[in-house]
Amino acid sequence: MADCLFCKIAAGEIPSKKVYENDLAYAFYDIDPKAPTHFLVIPKEHIVSCGAVEESHEALVGHLFHVISKVTKDLGLTDFRVVSNCGEQAGQSVFHLHFHVLGGRDMTWPPG
Ligand code: AMP
Ligand code: ZN
Repeated sequence: MADCLFCKIAAGEIPSKKVYENDLAYAFYDIDPKAPTHFLVIPKEHIVSCGAVEESHEALVGHLFHVISKVTKDLGLTDFRVVSNCGEQAGQSVFHLHFHVLGGRDMTWPPG
């Protein structure tokens, strides 16, 4: 989608620190990390947020979780948190579906 930061990152038009890539998904380190390890997993297809996931996206969204499992294993990360902010009130600032994967420190609950 034109003018979407994460579509441009997935297409290689804007540089990023890639962690993993395949035909469907792209993973890259967050530019403003909130934990010692903090990367984002996104679909290459533009989906606005979890709230815009449709039945046709089921396999793709499941695949993103497989990518999370694979990449965390590759990084030796056994304990981590997966977060997806949906909507401005929940803290979403980039309106292309992404899963934050955070690890390497103690976490508190509930999140702020
Ligand atoms: P959210 O606020 O949940 O929508 O998450 C968006 C995330 O994207 C934030 O954690 C930002 O730090 C991160 N971010 C914004 N621009 C970039 C970029 N160019 N490269 C990597 N991460 C980015
Ligand atoms: Zn996009």
